[in-house]
Amino acid sequence: MKERLPLFIGGEFVAGESHRILAVTNPATQEVLTELPFATQEEIDRAVASAKRTFFSWRETPVPERARLMLRYQHLLKEHQDDIARVLSRETGKIFSDAQGDVWRGIEVVEHACNIASLMMGETAENVGGRIDTCTYTQPIGVCAGITPFNFPAMIPLWMFPLAIACGNTFVLKPSEHDPMTPNLLAELFVEAGAPEGVLQVIHGGRDQVDALLAHPDIRAISFVGSLPVARHVYRTGTQHLKRVQAMSGAKNHMVVMPDANRERVIRSLVGASCGAAGQRCMAISVAVFVGDAANWIPDIRNAMAAVSPGPWDDGNAAYGPQINPEAKERILKLIADGKNEGADCLLDGSNCRVAGYPEGNWIGPTLFSKVSPGMRIYTEEIFGPVLLCAQVGGLDEAIRIINANPYGNGTSIFTSSGAAARKFQHEIAVGQVGINIPIPVPLPFFSFTGWRQSFFGDQHAYGKQAVKFYTETKTVMARWPDDAPPGEPNMTINLA
Ligand code: NAD
Repeated sequence: MKERLPLFIGGEFVAGESHRILAVTNPATQEVLTELPFATQEEIDRAVASAKRTFFSWRETPVPERARLMLRYQHLLKEHQDDIARVLSRETGKIFSDAQGDVWRGIEVVEHACNIASLMMGETAENVGGRIDTCTYTQPIGVCAGITPFNFPAMIPLWMFPLAIACGNTFVLKPSEHDPMTPNLLAELFVEAGAPEGVLQVIHGGRDQVDALLAHPDIRAISFVGSLPVARHVYRTGTQHLKRVQAMSGAKNHMVVMPDANRERVIRSLVGASCGAAGQRCMAISVAVFVGDAANWIPDIRNAMAAVSPGPWDDGNAAYGPQINPEAKERILKLIADGKNEGADCLLDGSNCRVAGYPEGNWIGPTLFSKVSPGMRIYTEEIFGPVLLCAQVGGLDEAIRIINANPYGNGTSIFTSSGAAARKFQHEIAVGQVGINIPIPVPLPFFSFTGWRQSFFGDQHAYGKQAVKFYTETKTVMARWPDDAPPGEPNMTINLA
């Protein structure tokens, strides 16, 4: 029997008492890495109570001190970046460079949180009425909770709890049940950085644990990242319970290829953006829309995709790792079969992918379809695997219409050498994150992660200034201080020369 992964409540790692256990496995081998007890209602209540108790002291901790905690945390995360990446590689199957990137993009958010004093500064206006001044203060809101997906087990928890806690809140994290070892490691390092007990708790589980958090009366705000059906459920239920909710959801990201684009860059970018991280990225490019003669490059793209292959985390030649679990692999295989049945042209089929020495891995090889139309299931569903669909259109207007008709609006990009085409695209496209000659335009943490339409529910997005607004409340103070001097007689002794 494997050791059970503990929960983290009240500053201590505690053994979960549940009989409901999930085996966490290595996706390249199916080796059981740990056993995960799903938190009981009593454990969830204990975690929230601990966060609630701590909130009243933590909110009084001076903001520079909260920033210093983040500075120490950033330093420790950097020091342990490779240790975290190794654990992350084992439980997600990610190749080591992808795992390092996952950790690094989380570290960048912690760096942003180090600047919390400036981010929380309010506004002032003097003399808004006779001797009345007005100022705003930004105050924390209470206990916040985060629910995260499997695909970035370091980065996405780090999108949430460092900023929420730096703002003066306390936090309950419910990471994905598929890769919970990395978030536990993040909590360990947070303790080492000097986080007071009760500021962060980690409870494990799945749907039931999420529902318990959504209904918990002492939780003020919920940050969620995951698939569209679950995002809808979380947003509806959380707001019904009168909580603030930000729900980052699924995606279907298109890249428009104009005939005047740089051919080599297009090919390189499409291979990396569709297959990188096994296609398990919410900003992966899953549809390439070729305008006019750009479609002539499809055979070259096929050859470039055929030249990459998946492999285990420490194989320097592997382009990406396995899918997270056999269910995810099966779902993708089914969608590939649907694509063939629906009449799309399968130019490269990764369904029967094998990796020497890893017969049990959840491998899917690079897969390319052309002649894809918007009614097909492979087009309407998020595939979340190394599968690229190609569509052909006559002009940029038609490309924009197709993208704007898709319900998702997470990311998109255009490859072109025309400023006019790029300007038209960035203005008319109804997608929240746009790349121009950049395939995956993920904003750095001093901006926010601004998915649109069905890719996001709520109004304040993850990280950046918007997250600070999400995790805080504005208090406006109007002050008049009585003064015995008659009004209208300012001090006349100022030298204005
Ligand atoms: P998921 O929706 O299956 O799970 C996300 C979280 O919700 C997990 O913590 C899980 O335990 C919980 N959950 C699962 N089913 C639930 C249910 N029925 N009720 C309540 N909670 C439930 O997502 P996933 O497979 O872990 O992650 C992949 C998805 O996340 C993709 O759709 C991807 O596009 C999306 N994603 C979006 C972003 C973004 O910023 N928009 C970023 C990363 C991933």
